[in-house]
Amino acid sequence: MSVSFQPQVDTHVHSIASGHAYSTIEEIARAAQAKGLRGVAITDHGPGLPGGPHFYHFMALRFVPRFIGTVRVLRGVEANILNDGHLDLEDHVLERLDIVLAGFHEDCAYDGTSCADHTRTLLRAMEHPHVDIISHPGNPQFPIDYAAVVEQAVRTGTALEINSSSFTISRRNSAPNCLEIARLAARLGAPVAIGSDAHISMGVGKFREALRALEQCGVAVEQVVNRTLESTVAFLQRNGRVVPLTEED
Ligand SMILES: [Zn+2]
Ligand SMILES: [Zn+2]
Repeated sequence: MSVSFQPQVDTHVHSIASGHAYSTIEEIARAAQAKGLRGVAITDHGPGLPGGPHFYHFMALRFVPRFIGTVRVLRGVEANILNDGHLDLEDHVLERLDIVLAGFHEDCAYDGTSCADHTRTLLRAMEHPHVDIISHPGNPQFPIDYAAVVEQAVRTGTALEINSSSFTISRRNSAPNCLEIARLAARLGAPVAIGSDAHISMGVGKFREALRALEQCGVAVEQVVNRTLESTVAFLQRNGRVVPLTEED
């Protein structure tokens, strides 16, 4: 991976609907366009997180145009992983979305306490056909068996996120875990997604730390599912979902 490489899509951004984020979808899309991105995924937290939106929010994403300016706006969620790998949105809601991230978060109704619990739960969530990307798997609050998770990513085609905010503003002490995941992903050829996890529009497209980690660990550009808008859409359609690339489709 060369240092000049830039993903064309930010697959992880929160809008004001998350309850602890500060920009509208329109502001996020305009910021993405100004940064030269071709796509942005609006991935507000699932209803299980305190302050998160009601599931009606996700049902109503059809009101959001597919393009704002020149930017393809993907309708998504960052769902919470609950006991037994269940998610906090039902399948009939997930089916309507373009992209589904799933991750562990504190203060949700998840009872796991050990590395074995988290690993078993995450491996099960990765079997879910609607789950595209596991958000911030390097979170030290939820230690997991990295080798088992990366093997599962290869087997199920689920991408593992290298989250740029994990190196800077969020989830302290994530960096060594993220590097370990990236090294294993490079070795096994697992799909990887790069996300900013921005909670305000000026954070959209900030990938520098994640890109540096992937370069350091030898991850190939071809492993990055959001390297181009086309590769992102192809990845999201792998399980039969339709993600149009024009407003009219
Ligand atoms: Zn958040
Ligand atoms: Zn998250």
